[in-house]
Amino acid sequence: MQAARSIEIVEVGPRDGLENETAELTTAVKLEFIRRAVDAGVRRIEVASFVNPRRVPRMADAEAIFAGLPRRADAIYGGLVLNRAGFDRAAAAGCREIGMVVFSTDEFNRRNQGVTSAESIRTWREISSAARATGIRAQVTLSAAFGCPFEGEVPVSRVVEIARAVAEAAPFEIAIADTIGVAVPGQVSEIFGRVAEALPRMALRGHFHNTRNTGLANAYAAVMAGAQVLDASLGGLGGCPFAPAATGNIPTEDLVYMLGRMGIETGVDLERAIDTARWIEQHVGHAVPGMLAKAGPFPGARRAAG
Ligand code: ZN
Repeated sequence: MQAARSIEIVEVGPRDGLENETAELTTAVKLEFIRRAVDAGVRRIEVASFVNPRRVPRMADAEAIFAGLPRRADAIYGGLVLNRAGFDRAAAAGCREIGMVVFSTDEFNRRNQGVTSAESIRTWREISSAARATGIRAQVTLSAAFGCPFEGEVPVSRVVEIARAVAEAAPFEIAIADTIGVAVPGQVSEIFGRVAEALPRMALRGHFHNTRNTGLANAYAAVMAGAQVLDASLGGLGGCPFAPAATGNIPTEDLVYMLGRMGIETGVDLERAIDTARWIEQHVGHAVPGMLAKAGPFPGARRAAG
């Protein structure tokens, strides 16, 4: 398999990133963050989650976020939904892309959604057909595909089986996610390879957390295994609920740098992405884990030594 000439980046900082940060940002700051991401050239952004606000209070402003988004025909703003009620809220808010999540193990799925993986797959089918009926595009994420905090190792056959099951409801894309940040590149090659073999026409997206510093290596392995889309968060915002001191998603600007130097287009302006990572740093109350925000681009403007 040859690497794609271009990779689409989905900015997940406003949702996955901020949901796992300690600091709680105002709706206005979140909207400014989204505007800066769009200005940097990102064209797909996960901006909100339509989950029960009692369970995830900091995502309670999903409707306000959608009402305040920069109006651009060339940008797609995605919303996370976990059930029919969430889908109805997303549709009412004007969301044009929804993402549903199915965990690769029953125990993780139960703790997150209160039901088994099979029951979430049934919900996904229902949401997918509701989305089709209303002209909203729908994708699905296989979470904890590389390891589960409760069940441990996840058999590759299990991931392939769930991928086949969710594919029956025709998502436009399937994401394979390392939710807790335990994957290594060899495993990424194997799982992406096996899912691509089972579903040769399906677009695959990678979602990696840098919890154990293997995030960018995993992203590279996914690209080489045929992934066309990667999730990332500016600055590397976020965390991991199962590793309290962990860093978040792979940093968007670090990914843009790596892919750009490999000759792979992302459409994202590296300098602007770095500026945004440095800007969000002031709002989350700590230095962002992304390395490009510290080191700067290369080749770049000559800087004074010292
Ligand atoms: Zn995540």
